[in-house]
Amino acid sequence: MFAAMRSDKMQALHLFSDEATGLEAIIAIHNTRLGPALGGCRYMPYASIEAASADAMRLARGMSYKAALAGLEQGGGKAVIIRPAHVPDRAALFEAFGRCIESLRGGYITAVDSGTSSQDMDCIAQQTGHVTSTRQAGDPSPHTALGVLMGIKAAARRQLGQESLAGVRVMLQGLGNVGYALAEMLVAEGADLLVADLDAGKVRMAEDDLGATPIAPDAVFEAPCDIFAPCGLGGVLTPASIAQLRCAAVAGAANNQLINSDAADLLDARGILYAPDYVINAGGLLHVALTHQGVAAGEIAARVRLVGDRLDSIFAQSLAEGRSPSEIADHQAEAIIYADLALS
Ligand code: NAD
Repeated sequence: MFAAMRSDKMQALHLFSDEATGLEAIIAIHNTRLGPALGGCRYMPYASIEAASADAMRLARGMSYKAALAGLEQGGGKAVIIRPAHVPDRAALFEAFGRCIESLRGGYITAVDSGTSSQDMDCIAQQTGHVTSTRQAGDPSPHTALGVLMGIKAAARRQLGQESLAGVRVMLQGLGNVGYALAEMLVAEGADLLVADLDAGKVRMAEDDLGATPIAPDAVFEAPCDIFAPCGLGGVLTPASIAQLRCAAVAGAANNQLINSDAADLLDARGILYAPDYVINAGGLLHVALTHQGVAAGEIAARVRLVGDRLDSIFAQSLAEGRSPSEIADHQAEAIIYADLALS
């Protein structure tokens, strides 16, 4: 465990248990150099404490990088609650978890993640103020979509040499909370929209209300387009799907789009520009972090729009140094997080 912590430069790993509610939870804090660690709370079954800790640490590190490139004075953390086979009182379990967070005195701020909801965050809020994405904080998806729109514009600037999205053909995979909001924004910008979703009702709505062209879910990769925007599940960029792509750039909201780090090189080799997922989808993190800090909605939107500037800088450095945008993004994040070490 300590070796894994060292290799990821993990600052701390906290283990909590509460007999009364059956709570078993882990909070991984990657670092608090830039500010308190912020990151979601997962609630799911795990095969072992090692598997749960590894997941928490991997995700906590990712949050540090994401926060740094989003320009937040925030560190990275992640919590995992191991879902028991039987939960007599879910509200009590999350309240107990709230007390665990409170014991860290602000070093970690939690938020919604896989398996948790804003109702769960409301239960946590009964015990601590170090929680965001409560029902009152609102849905981050529109801000995530706005950031992705800015990322698509940055990709179009770089690959197509145009500022406007008028006539730019975007293949949008996934019309969920983020995808549908993005579809509306793209149409308002004059983009030519192709859409796919496993839910035929959402596709019909995009067709009827937005004039989008439907594409079968299994035909999205080979659909000729300028930009492919994955906004469904992660892991869609595999050697097989990358070989099929007929686009100039991939720029979408989904988390963990690359099946592995080799996939970034495969995209590069095909001349397809890739907007690193954790950079382009940071609008949701900006929403939860800045809402928690009491920042006004207009100011949050202005900060989200800067996602495009960050991608411009990553794309330019990638081109200049002949390294993939993913590699450049990681290096830029590390330069921000460890800036004080470089100076000393
Ligand atoms: P969602 O569950 O609301 O929507 C996902 C949509 O994708 C659903 O409509 C689903 O039917 C569709 N889908 C799934 N697999 C598909 C496939 N193979 N082909 C076509 N459609 C498919 O999720 P969301 O909140 O819109 O998030 C979308 C992605 O963006 C996720 O990967 C999420 O982790 C990521 N993300 C979301 C936010 C946010 O603010 N919600 C922030 C950052 C990242």
